[in-house]
Amino acid sequence: MGMDYQAAIIDVDGTIVRGDTPIDGADRGLSAIDGAGLDRLFVSNNPTKRPPAYERRLTSAGFDVDAAEVITAGTATTSYLDEEYHGDTVYLVGEAELAEQFTDAGITVANHPTDADVFVASIDFAFSYDDMQQGLRVLADPEVPFIGTDPDIVIPTDTGNIPGSGAIIGAIETVTERSVDVICGKPSTHVASMALDRLGDPAPERCLVIGDRLDTDILLGDRAGMTTVLVQTGITDDRRLADSPIEPDYVLDSISEIDCVLG
Ligand SMILES: [Mg+2]
Repeated sequence: MGMDYQAAIIDVDGTIVRGDTPIDGADRGLSAIDGAGLDRLFVSNNPTKRPPAYERRLTSAGFDVDAAEVITAGTATTSYLDEEYHGDTVYLVGEAELAEQFTDAGITVANHPTDADVFVASIDFAFSYDDMQQGLRVLADPEVPFIGTDPDIVIPTDTGNIPGSGAIIGAIETVTERSVDVICGKPSTHVASMALDRLGDPAPERCLVIGDRLDTDILLGDRAGMTTVLVQTGITDDRRLADSPIEPDYVLDSISEIDCVLG
C-alpha cells in the first residue's frame, strides 16, 4: 500500500457494463478513481466498434465518457499497421467496420490475395471456407506477416458465448500451420505502450489495470509492470482464478471496491 497511483487503464465489458447495462457500483468505482486524481483510459478488445460508439453506449449507460478516452483493438491494430507497415496493402479477414477503420487511416485493403503485403485476421460474422483458402494463399508466402486484432476466443453475450477473433485466428493458424505473429489488442505490448503514451507516460507500476479477464487485462498489466486489479463481475470466477498461472495483484468483487486499492 501507499503507492501513489497516477493512472488507470479500465476494461469495459464485464468491468463497468454488461451489454448496455451498468454494473452495480461501477459509477462509485469510477468516481473514486476520479476523486483520487488518476488519469483514466478505457481499453476494449472489440475490433469493430469505434471509440465514438463506446462514448454513446457508455453515456447511455450513465457514465460520462469521451471517445478520446477509449482505445479499442481496432484502433490498436490500425496504429500498429500504420507504424510498422506504412504504405503496405492489407488482406483482411474481418468485418467491414474494421476495413473502414483501415481505409479511413489511409491503409489500403486488398481485394485480391495476390496484392497482399500483410494479412490481418479478426472476428468475421461471415467467416467461411473461402476465407481459410485465401488465408492459405496469402500466408503461403513466409514474408507476409500474420497479424490478429485480439485473442478473445469467445465473447459473452446475453444469450451465451459467441465465437470471437481468437476462434478465427485459430482456424487460420490450423489450416496454414503458422502461428499468428502479432496480436495488436490486449494483452500486447503494442496496446500497453499506446495506452501509457496516451496517459502521458506514467511509471508503469503507478498505473492500475482493471479488468475481468486474466489472459488479456491482467496479462497486459503483468507484462508491462503495471499494478493489476481483477474484478469478478465478468468472465473470471473463483475456479478460473485458482486454475490460472496469472496472478493479479488485487482481486475485487467489483470495481465499486477500487477505493481499497487506492488507499
Ligand atoms: Mg472485459
